[in-house]
Amino acid sequence: MKNISLLGSTGSIGTQTLEVVRAYPEELCVKALTCGSRIGLLKEQIKEFKPELVVVFDQDKALELEKEIKSPEFSSYEEKIPEVMSGMEGLIAAATLSSADIVLTAVVGMIGIRPTIAAIEAGKDIALANKETLVTAGHIIMPLAKAHGVKILPVDSEHSAIFQSLNGEDRKALDKILLTASGGPFRGRRREELSNITPEDALKHPNWSMGAKITIDSSTLVNKGLEVMEAQWLFGVPAEQIQVVVQPQSIIHSMVQFDDGGIIAQLGTPDMKLPIMYALFYPERKFLEGERLDFWKLSEITFEKPDTDNFPGLRLAYEAAGEGGSMPTVYNAVNEEAVSLFLRRKIGYLDIADTIACCMSSHKTVNNPDLDQILMIENELRGEVARRFE
Ligand code: NAD
Ligand code: MG
Repeated sequence: MKNISLLGSTGSIGTQTLEVVRAYPEELCVKALTCGSRIGLLKEQIKEFKPELVVVFDQDKALELEKEIKSPEFSSYEEKIPEVMSGMEGLIAAATLSSADIVLTAVVGMIGIRPTIAAIEAGKDIALANKETLVTAGHIIMPLAKAHGVKILPVDSEHSAIFQSLNGEDRKALDKILLTASGGPFRGRRREELSNITPEDALKHPNWSMGAKITIDSSTLVNKGLEVMEAQWLFGVPAEQIQVVVQPQSIIHSMVQFDDGGIIAQLGTPDMKLPIMYALFYPERKFLEGERLDFWKLSEITFEKPDTDNFPGLRLAYEAAGEGGSMPTVYNAVNEEAVSLFLRRKIGYLDIADTIACCMSSHKTVNNPDLDQILMIENELRGEVARRFE
């Protein structure tokens, strides 16, 4: 039995992880569930999965939940009522829960850094969906994981594809990573045609159904930029050896090229449950119900170069990766704030990448920032961006 602490259980990755747990009740068990504030769904998850600990980041919502789970509605609940906690203290308690073997980090944003570090220090393996954590603190997390002998198993579909393609291969013979991208819903449009994009337009992803923030990031190519930096840390490859290839059908989930020119890829119909399962059961492969790729029906798989002139989000990520130090934190923190403002209709679509560019050009890089410096820079920049558009 593998015991899981699930950070971000009410989100897109969180709910799909619970579908996997539901399919393998003899092998997977959830010990902790956490969310930001959606306690309605969390309550249903508590009834079904009976965790020991539940965490709601929002303190008022946590109190509300605690009251509800002690009410008669839960009277038929035969298990011990779970402990309820809130805030960062709660997230860290879930990440370090003694009964958990693996922590699946599916919270959105840099909020995941401290729980991830705490989980590694407590010797837990990490199934990592929360890419923002690795982008901003990869230089802390990767050596820490090595020192504690814990595995960082990718959940992001591209990184899982790379991980699967590298299985059994000599990493020293890895020449480059070919990171695939769908190109997002606005592929082919020019900058002038993007200025009036609304949150509703940008929330329609052609191939994947995901949380709001990552869907916007996919449309601006910032998601691909974050993934370049995520791949750097996960596979120890510099950004210049990571080539982004647009493959609009999202059939090839990524590829690796070796010194002899050979390329290995992982393909399949788009379904996040495969990378989630691969991380939870690694190195075992399990049955996953769903549509199979039928090459007789598949009409084409096409390739393009990413358009970094009209979608500068990706180019800026390579610049941030090249600069290193605190620059990826600037890239990520400014994006998090800008996307949140865009979703609340406070700024326009093009302001997202423009603000990242502007903040990066005025930032004085701190080399090898420690955790406090990373969180301080995040805080300062998010404040600065919010004030700029007040
Ligand atoms: P989502 O918005 O659907 O869910 C986010 C989860 O985090 C929710 O459970 C929410 O309650 C929780 N959360 C938000 N703020 C929180 C806070 N302050 N404290 C505690 N919990 C908080 O997001 P998602 O699409 O599931 O993405 C989660 C992570 O996985 C992101 O880092 C994303 O980039 C990554 N990812 C997602 C997908 C996908 O298909 N959705 C694919 C690859 C990678
Ligand atoms: Mg991805």
